[in-house]
Amino acid sequence: MLIDGHGRTVNYLRVSVTERCNFRCQYCMPEKPFSWVPKENLLSFEELFLFMKVAMDEGVNKIRITGGEPLLREDLDTFIKMIHDYKPDIDLALTTNAYLLPQTAQRLKDAGLKRLNISLDSLKPEVAHKIAQKDVLGPVLKGIDKALEVGLGVKINMVPLKGINDDEILDIMDYCKERNIKVRFIEYMENRHANVELKGMHGREILAKVKERHTIHALGREGASPSFNYELDDGYQFGLIDPHKHDFCENCNRIRLTAEGNLIPCLYFDEAMSIAKSVKAGDVQGAADVLAKVLKDKPKENRWSEDNPNEEDISTRAFYETGG
Ligand code: SAM
Ligand code: SF4
Repeated sequence: MLIDGHGRTVNYLRVSVTERCNFRCQYCMPEKPFSWVPKENLLSFEELFLFMKVAMDEGVNKIRITGGEPLLREDLDTFIKMIHDYKPDIDLALTTNAYLLPQTAQRLKDAGLKRLNISLDSLKPEVAHKIAQKDVLGPVLKGIDKALEVGLGVKINMVPLKGINDDEILDIMDYCKERNIKVRFIEYMENRHANVELKGMHGREILAKVKERHTIHALGREGASPSFNYELDDGYQFGLIDPHKHDFCENCNRIRLTAEGNLIPCLYFDEAMSIAKSVKAGDVQGAADVLAKVLKDKPKENRWSEDNPNEEDISTRAFYETGG
């Protein structure tokens, strides 16, 4: 079992397979970064997998593939199959913007993928375009339909932004209710890579919008999930991810691996240790040692503030690097 320096059990690994993306979401990567990690610095699937086996052998039983946009990485289904074949009962999921799902969903399902989290910030073509800086809505909605058609589990993530898509919280909820899928509203997390003009909505403002039409009942956090769950009178459940509240960190069970092999203990902070050298040399013990050190030093909590963010509350970590 993996236990961190604050006594929390860590059983969840998020693996970013690329930082590249086919969208330019204003809260994540509004402009193409000054430089990409050169392709030769990306770990191969075999190298990533060597570390993942170490983590799975030591107690990781939940893995999420993310990015950048993970479906941009060629042969992702081969990678999914490697993980699935090693531990068929692993809780294996993927986070995607869904743009490429119409042509990939079936292969992902056949490779052993169980669940998808899909980002959907608007049901209006022009608003989706404004956020992603590309005309994305048509393929995204087709991608969601395709995922449901092939039998993948789907959850929707929405990041409400003031003056942009804050009037669509109830519409996105209705869209999800109609398809019997869960929506999770994510508070915008301030970071230095995002468009500086964005204003996120606080969790209580998001809930106030839902309450305009529904009575809601608080259910609580689901295990170590960052999502706080609520139920409507008709039994429909939705989630709120509110990192500006610090009870969010109490049960943190996750670490993150980037595509170039940096192991990141917390989404907020810059600290990371590389496993690249170990996995390139096939050094299993070296990779296990880095994992132990990262767990020992995992921070107690993030520093996103409940109040208006000060300069020092703005994270320097790029979401497109860590995978959210
Ligand atoms: N490209 C995929 C996608 O968009 O789903 C996977 C990577 S993306 C970085 C993972 C998640 O992070 C998405 O749900 C996205 O909405 C969320 N995200 C990115 N930047 C964010 C920010 N500044 N605040 C809150 N959530 C953010
Ligand atoms: Fe790409 Fe996802 Fe970031 Fe949007 S949130 S720019 S889709 S990585």
